[in-house]
Amino acid sequence: MFRKILIANRGEIAVRVARTCRELGIPTVAVHSTADRDSAVVRLADEAVQIGPPPPAQSYLNAAAVLQAAEQTGADAIHPGYGFLSESPDFADACEAAGITLIGPSAPVMAALGDKTSARALMTRAGLPLLPGSVDPLDAEAARELATTIGFPVIIKAAAGGGGRGMQVVHDPAVFADDFRRTQATAQMLFGDGRVYVEKYLAKARHVEVQVLCDGHGNAVHLGERDCTVQRRHQKLIEETPAPHLPDGLAERMGRSAVEGALAAGYVGAGTFEFLVDPDGSYYFMEVNCRIQVEHPVTEMVTGIDLVREQILIAAGAELTITQPDVRPRGVAIECRINAEDPAAGFAPTPGPVEEFVPAGGPFVRVDTHVFPGYRIPPNYDSLLAKLVVWAPERDAAIARMRRALAEFRVRGPRVSTTSEFLSGVLDDSRFRSVAHTTSLVDEMLG
Ligand code: ADP
Repeated sequence: MFRKILIANRGEIAVRVARTCRELGIPTVAVHSTADRDSAVVRLADEAVQIGPPPPAQSYLNAAAVLQAAEQTGADAIHPGYGFLSESPDFADACEAAGITLIGPSAPVMAALGDKTSARALMTRAGLPLLPGSVDPLDAEAARELATTIGFPVIIKAAAGGGGRGMQVVHDPAVFADDFRRTQATAQMLFGDGRVYVEKYLAKARHVEVQVLCDGHGNAVHLGERDCTVQRRHQKLIEETPAPHLPDGLAERMGRSAVEGALAAGYVGAGTFEFLVDPDGSYYFMEVNCRIQVEHPVTEMVTGIDLVREQILIAAGAELTITQPDVRPRGVAIECRINAEDPAAGFAPTPGPVEEFVPAGGPFVRVDTHVFPGYRIPPNYDSLLAKLVVWAPERDAAIARMRRALAEFRVRGPRVSTTSEFLSGVLDDSRFRSVAHTTSLVDEMLG
């Protein structure tokens, strides 16, 4: 087992990882920017190292500074959380060169799956169903021809994309060439990689993803699916498991596809296979996330499996002790992501001091957060404040419990607003209640 784990992240996920490390009896090192000097993880971890100024490029994305902190504190493993360096093959390589274990898949696997075009090629070979589209990045003319062949609408996506950015839906062939060039430029700006590709756009789809766990000994299981259909600008807001009202047998087929895909890729660690589900019951592979997901707690709530613990054990070389028949999800879990944003101002971020903070509590409620009274939300990072997670035996009861928990949850500050009321509105929407919603629900609600 590891002597000491460095947590190369911030916010709620850094706190989440520190908690499991403590349960495992493994000392932790928090790294932080100057903006996060007084953060919750700095208080919770055994040691803390300041690695740079607030801009992520100079702190949480600064691989050399993170590695130096690991060397200086004698950490022999790094948990990267999500975002930042978590899916960087270069960082994985640098960790290996420094003799430090990165808790996640190897650099070559990360590289093969992190690039959406090479992931598409790999999963096509593994026999997973994919939406019609290009396998290789294309130039504008070839892309337009392909778009015409597969039929509009299409979506142009950055090969290196992530976080719902670097994507453009095109309904009108006349604007395709302009949109294509614009997406290339955006991709270059955001990801330093202008390669884009084209696939069929499913206007009425649900986002359903499968959690897998694979060890380094050839064992792989899936832990069921999560429905992440409630999104705004391709970013998830509410997630639930199981995915409600799927056609019989579909979740099992998707689970098997994910395990086959993971084995074909030589995947080791916790990973997520994302799919789109069409109203006709077809499902299509979208991408693999080579890290812990924001929404992992819903899977933990129904399976009783601590995913961060499994990540750490797998990275330490242990064999999986969970077999597929051991995975028997119970009940329903829902997660709401509460962001420091003002829905009335186009969801603009609302950083600033937090004067009052009341997390929800009570039966079957879990709150993953880094916020406390007196906390100052820095303007430099994403706006996630807390994840409110509830469990209940059935979906209606879980929705009622989430409504109750959202009403209890309170963050107040002179400039801070949150999305909690907006999320309550989504839970009340008849389309969400009756599972008639698609990834366009939030756009439809906002009109
Ligand atoms: P990212 O890596 O940026 O998260 P994804 O490829 O996972 O991007 O897509 C994010 C979201 O965008 C999906 O959950 C879905 O709502 C939407 N999306 C992506 N591709 C398609 C598609 N071909 N058709 C319809 N919606 C799509």
